[in-house]
Amino acid sequence: MQLVHKKVPREFLEMLPDGVKFIHRHGKEFLVVEELSCPNGHSLMAESVRIHDEPSIRIAVERPNGTGRIFIDAFWGSHAKLYDFLPAPSEDMIHIEARCATCGVSLSVERPCGRMECDSQKNFLFHLPGENNFVYVCAKLGCPEHSIVVGGVPQHLNKLISEINYFGYGEDEQFKGI
Ligand SMILES: [Zn+2]
Ligand SMILES: [Zn+2]
Repeated sequence: MQLVHKKVPREFLEMLPDGVKFIHRHGKEFLVVEELSCPNGHSLMAESVRIHDEPSIRIAVERPNGTGRIFIDAFWGSHAKLYDFLPAPSEDMIHIEARCATCGVSLSVERPCGRMECDSQKNFLFHLPGENNFVYVCAKLGCPEHSIVVGGVPQHLNKLISEINYFGYGEDEQFKGI
């Protein structure tokens, strides 16, 4: 998958929270998540599973025959993923339950998706370093809704960052949500 360039607001760079870095790659600029944790403080970053040459974000998912793992691209807005399992054809891979791979705590919170066209009532909540800094992603696989909430950063800026997405909703590439 080719990463598409989106402009990162300059104002946000001055307030860049810990756990998010700003990088240049092939002359273009990207935000990359480099530190996320579960509510119990375990890192969700998988150093050994790299996507676009950066550590990925690992979540554990419940499956009919045990636990699987999904590795999510840490490039903000990319949504590329790797799986350590092959879903059975009958398996519901749209509504998944994500957990911390270390302690098993659920990462789901009740929070309706912000997209009109999505009916999901759940989000996954990832903790950035710092008490009031979070990343939310829609729990419905295939929905690109994600948002960043950084304490002290004006809401309009958080919103601009949340709108950075390299894919629209409903494109036919499977599994590109989160
Ligand atoms: Zn944990
Ligand atoms: Zn959604």
